[in-house]
Amino acid sequence: MSQDLPDGELSLESATNSGQSSTLGLTLISLSSTPEPTPVDSGAPYDDTDADLILRSSDLVDFRVYKVVLAKASPVFKVLLSGSPKSDAKTPSIALSGESKDGCSVICLPENKDVLESLLSAILPVPVVIPGNLNRLLPILAAAQKYNMNAALASLRSTTSHVGVVDKTPEDAFRTYCHAQQLGLLEESIKAAKATLPRKLSIESLGSDLRLATGPALDKLHRFHTSIAQRANVSLRTVLVASQTMWVADAASKKTRCRETTAGPLTHDIPYWFAQFVLRNIHDDFPAPPSYTSFLLALVLHCHKGFCRYCTSLSASFLEKVWGDLSACISAPVTLVRHCISSQQSDE
Ligand SMILES: [Zn+2]
Repeated sequence: MSQDLPDGELSLESATNSGQSSTLGLTLISLSSTPEPTPVDSGAPYDDTDADLILRSSDLVDFRVYKVVLAKASPVFKVLLSGSPKSDAKTPSIALSGESKDGCSVICLPENKDVLESLLSAILPVPVVIPGNLNRLLPILAAAQKYNMNAALASLRSTTSHVGVVDKTPEDAFRTYCHAQQLGLLEESIKAAKATLPRKLSIESLGSDLRLATGPALDKLHRFHTSIAQRANVSLRTVLVASQTMWVADAASKKTRCRETTAGPLTHDIPYWFAQFVLRNIHDDFPAPPSYTSFLLALVLHCHKGFCRYCTSLSASFLEKVWGDLSACISAPVTLVRHCISSQQSDE
């Protein structure tokens, strides 16, 4: 969360110093040599002639906006534009550059043109500009969070829910987790951390991806993986024992039972396919949450392997009850991931 602040401050100070002796200033100069790059106008829809403020991106693109709209969308800008900016370690350090262009004050921001364009499109009545790529979306969310644009952040998260991490591979999810942690984005960190579960966290399996993670980020993810393995083990075992009563009572009422039941002390009289389905999750080191479809599939495979009168006759309500108990345990990790990933978030 606080990690991007020093960068932001550095870039901003560099930009406000008009590229004198600061790091960013030197970089810009060395890239472009002489003459010094001139800011360009972004054009429509940020070209209103009655605009009273210019936001300049780090790559020198000017966006003409209205102070009142910006102040409404962001308490950070509201304080700045009120003329009495407070120095607060928690708020990003932004300042009027002192420069004026066409009668408008100029604020130089550390965000680039693409990030600024998407951010502004989330707070102004203009067509929303959203990247379809998660890696380009995260810096926009981070900027909205940094400037306390809470409504914009919620709206961006809702309109970009399709650019999710859930359908990514565990390898992609790990990279997203590292990126989101770096930017201090808790919600995205949580989603990505959950999606990393099928991936084993070892030096060998992470390979070169390991360099993407900071120590604290890796520590939190490791604690989450370990906790979930322990929690899943305990809770799924509990489900198995508890479901035994349901299976036995149901079989007794029908005066028949599954042709293939288990006989172990823990799983006595439970259909073998169900016990296997649950135990598979217990024995996986880092179980990916099973779905209702995979639960039904296990039943169908069992019935197709050899006709089972009992399992074929299971009622929908009975199956839903069994699944309900099982999925209640599966959903527990959602709470767990929030607990593990959000802890020590402020320590970074
Ligand atoms: Zn059966």
